[in-house]
Amino acid sequence: MSLARYACDPARSRGRRHPEEAAPTRTEYQRDRDRIVHSTAFRRLVYKTQVFLNHEGDLFRTRLTHSLEVAQLARSIARALELNEDLVEAIALAHDLGHTPFGHAGQDALNDCMSAHGGFEHNLQSLRVVDELEERYPRYDGLNLTFETREGVLKHCSRANAQRIEQGEPGGVARRFLDRTQPSLEAQLCNLADEIAYNAHDIDDGVRSGLITMEQLEAVPLFEDYRRVTLQEFPGLQGRRLLYECIRRMLSAQVYDVIDATRGALKAAAPSTADDARRCAPIVKFSDAMAARSSALKAFLLNNLYRHPQVLATTGQAKDVVRELFGAYVEQPAQMPPDFAARPNVARAVADYIAGMTDRFAAREHERLTGRRLLA
Ligand code: MG
Repeated sequence: MSLARYACDPARSRGRRHPEEAAPTRTEYQRDRDRIVHSTAFRRLVYKTQVFLNHEGDLFRTRLTHSLEVAQLARSIARALELNEDLVEAIALAHDLGHTPFGHAGQDALNDCMSAHGGFEHNLQSLRVVDELEERYPRYDGLNLTFETREGVLKHCSRANAQRIEQGEPGGVARRFLDRTQPSLEAQLCNLADEIAYNAHDIDDGVRSGLITMEQLEAVPLFEDYRRVTLQEFPGLQGRRLLYECIRRMLSAQVYDVIDATRGALKAAAPSTADDARRCAPIVKFSDAMAARSSALKAFLLNNLYRHPQVLATTGQAKDVVRELFGAYVEQPAQMPPDFAARPNVARAVADYIAGMTDRFAAREHERLTGRRLLA
């Protein structure tokens, strides 16, 4: 792996919160990746909703397959730009560890429940998972990841939370939200790879579920242009092969666009180190033309898929499950496992417990505690 001078170099990592000896054969970022893959939260991603609730079908993306797709895209781009592939892989695999069951519906409901207790942000929760909630090692809570992986995991953060984190960890991962600087190029890349991944797989899942049609997608230039050239090359191609070929071409175009646009920005900003790159304006990006096309696609998915009446009907039930679970545990903390029930901050303990659940466990717990069966 050849590293550019502006890439994160594991030999110059800002280190772990609890110092550890180096591993004999693996770099610090490889170790981070391995710890993430072996974590409990990572295994649970397979039963967590991306857009479609887990019980709606076996062929739709879950948070796990989404995370793997983000890692694949980010690694391809990282290699071309000589960024650190191990670091982008670690960040990509960890970026959604803090997601609640039932996707954004679950998160919104939990954030409402927590409004008087500091709120709930899924990016911050991902950091809590790797910093505190995983219990695997004898000497510390969490996975004790490097600064650079943790920095990438904390993708967004409110100012209030940034100030709170900064107090406990001066100059740490929240500092950039107060200084308004950027994260590493590897972290910037993972953000964009996340967007590229879900735009593509939500079209795929949306069409295969029947909630959106290829005809509707004619209004989306980023998709339609590739459909047209695909049909010129393969007249008569239809169904899922046509869909996959359009998505494949659309993904490639975005990957090459990011590589070209980012090379241009690197040339202009000429950062000489990873820290230098953090002080520049965002460097990893789409060209302006691709950014506009990607936004148009996002708007289409929002209006036609995420707000589709059938999706909204299940998300309404998902919110009820989370709200009622929250109420039940706050009233009777002993219904949670003892280590959660014993925590002094009841609301945060309940939020952590619910956030860690898979979709189906949450639905089962809800039925056990309320006698009502939703989402089954
Ligand atoms: Mg994601």
